[in-house]
Amino acid sequence: MSLVDDILYLEERLNSINQELKELRSKAEALETQNARLWARFSEEGLLGQGQEALSRLYEDGFHICHAHFAQPRFEECLFCLALLK
Ligand SMILES: [Zn+2]
Repeated sequence: MSLVDDILYLEERLNSINQELKELRSKAEALETQNARLWARFSEEGLLGQGQEALSRLYEDGFHICHAHFAQPRFEECLFCLALLK
C-alpha cells in the first residue's frame, strides 16, 4: 500500500465516523426534544394537581368552586362543584 492509499483509507474511515456522529447527534437531539416534552407535561400535570387540590380544599371549607357561584359561601352540596372535583 502506498502512502496515498493509506491516506485515502483513513479519509474513508473518517467520513464514515463523521456519518455515525451525525446519526448519533440527531438521535440525541430527538431524545432531548422528547425529554423536554415529558418534563413540560410533568410540570403541567403537577400544577394542575396542585390547582385541583386547592379547589378541593376551598370546597371543603364551604365555598363554591363552580363557575356559576365561584367563591360564594356554600350551604349544601353543589352538583356543579362536585362535577369539577371529579
Ligand atoms: Zn357550586
